[in-house]
Amino acid sequence: MKRKVPIWKRIVRSSLMLLGIVGGLYAWNPQRLHYFAKPVTLPKTDPESANLFKKGNRVTVVVGHPDDAEFFISGTLLKLHQAGAAITLIVVTDGDKSYYPWFLTNAEENRKVRRAEQEEASKAYGGKVVFLGGPDGRYDPDEKELRAKLLAAIKESKPDYLLSFDDEYVLKVQHRDHENSGRATRELAPQTGTKWLLLFATYAPTYWVDTSGTWDKRAQLLAVHKSQFYGEKLSLIQGTVLDKALSEGERIGKETAESFRAIPLDRSPAR
Ligand SMILES: [Zn+2]
Repeated sequence: MKRKVPIWKRIVRSSLMLLGIVGGLYAWNPQRLHYFAKPVTLPKTDPESANLFKKGNRVTVVVGHPDDAEFFISGTLLKLHQAGAAITLIVVTDGDKSYYPWFLTNAEENRKVRRAEQEEASKAYGGKVVFLGGPDGRYDPDEKELRAKLLAAIKESKPDYLLSFDDEYVLKVQHRDHENSGRATRELAPQTGTKWLLLFATYAPTYWVDTSGTWDKRAQLLAVHKSQFYGEKLSLIQGTVLDKALSEGERIGKETAESFRAIPLDRSPAR
């Protein structure tokens, strides 16, 4: 006769199975949760803003995907462009979504479409775009070849200011390519000769850029990434970005703003 499995054993067994499924899905999904992360107040730091907004100033931005620059900091990039700064945008992955099951995506097509959208959007702030072609959703900041490529691309752009994601004071929910591209950039920064590191998507802002008057253009730039943001989703994303810009603006008494954690770097290393 078959022995009946006690109820508690069945509960433990199905709980473990559920945990396994949820854990597996979390590991596959590129979003990271930082449940205990919260805003931190650090002393305000002006990254020599007169130099930042000076004609000929070289600014290099490192992001994870096509659309990150437009989502997070296009107000600052538009203002920098108005001031005559030269901007280089380094995109470490192609946004190809190749971590999806093969029948849900077409990586080759995504690569083409998203590169073209990024090229189109960055015209608005005169951005020269460099694609490093790392794997979307799986960017490894310690992988030797990718790291060497990133260092070479940053050095070639000879940045006075280097901008990327903050991986130390990270937000509650963040894409791991964002965190990882930020970590690689922060770790490599001292070898690049840059004077300042400005980190965005941060819980510890120390510097605000007044982006008043850029909103209409920002909204249009989000729409350029039409493979990602369309219809209802586009309005939703525009709303999220506008809310953030307004609340940052409130902190400095301006219409809209964007915030950064500003870190000065040693000026001596040879490029
Ligand atoms: Zn992204």
